[in-house]
Amino acid sequence: MYDLIIVGAGPAGVSAAIYASRARIGTLWIDNRFIPGGQISDSGRVDNYPGIPGVSGADLGEKLHAHAKSLGMTPLREKVLSIERQQDGRNVRFVVTTKKNRYEARTVICSAGASHRMLDIPGEQELSGSGVSYCATCDGAFFKDRRTVVIGGGNTACEDALFLARLCREVTLVHRRDELRADAVLQELVRQEPKIRILWNTVPRAIEGEMQVTGLKVCNVVTQEESLLETDGVFIAVGTTPNSALVRDLVQTDPSGYVCAGEDGVTNVPGLFVAGDVRTKQLRQVVTAASDGANCVESVQRYLRSQR
Ligand code: NAP
Repeated sequence: MYDLIIVGAGPAGVSAAIYASRARIGTLWIDNRFIPGGQISDSGRVDNYPGIPGVSGADLGEKLHAHAKSLGMTPLREKVLSIERQQDGRNVRFVVTTKKNRYEARTVICSAGASHRMLDIPGEQELSGSGVSYCATCDGAFFKDRRTVVIGGGNTACEDALFLARLCREVTLVHRRDELRADAVLQELVRQEPKIRILWNTVPRAIEGEMQVTGLKVCNVVTQEESLLETDGVFIAVGTTPNSALVRDLVQTDPSGYVCAGEDGVTNVPGLFVAGDVRTKQLRQVVTAASDGANCVESVQRYLRSQR
């Protein structure tokens, strides 16, 4: 029986593992991804994590995991299938079942993060991997000197458009409103980049192509005019959805599926804590995820003391 099982090894999970190690909590750490760092490993450049300006997401992921490893913490590479809570009088235990094993712990920190959201338009699924991508840094190189479209108006869409502009002949940013949501500094860079054209008030309707993407059908929401953009690639950057499926039946979530918890990571289920992008919060960033992991371990310690 462990004192703590941490599920997920993005910045929140790494930070929880570091703090748990230093607090000498008997911890098992599980993550099924082979690439360290969670979602940031897809990010070409992270420029807002204090002290490490201009680091690539992949390098930051490596650094985070190396730090945890130096304290004796390395995640087990197993896919978690379920998390159950069992109670016998005052004794609470969580049973975490993976593809290979079954583990028990007094507490669980779920730091499973979030995944890219899909558009759910015709052609998206069919052409995924054949010109439709959710990761510009992973797939951008396939579109060297070609035309690409990025859908979305947030930080990811702007970063993707800037990344692709370094490689592609032209990049069209398709956004459903007349104002971007991205940080001001990214908006400035996008507007200054001559290879990026922005289509405002425009929503995607369908992705066209037989074996490979050839175009994107769009509609202007002001004029209702439909048109076809010829393109070789469609990069979808329309936000994320929480990876809360493992705990959704146990715990209170908001209508979008984020687990309801404050900065302390405390949920409505005693012994179950959440950290990082999977929880309700104002700002989903590496720095806030790392902060969550630390706070959660403090909450775990208080809880374990209260159970003695
Ligand atoms: P986001 O901030 O939620 O932005 C999603 C964008 O997609 C929004 O512009 C949204 O439009 C648009 N959108 C959503 N659903 C759509 C649909 N069905 N059709 C068309 N457009 C749709 O997501 P994100 O950019 O992936 O960022 C996620 C989180 O990670 C944010 O907290 C972000 O700050 C953070 N992040 C930070 C960095 C960084 O700091 N370097 C980099 C990447 C991500 P509306 O604007 O109209 O809602």
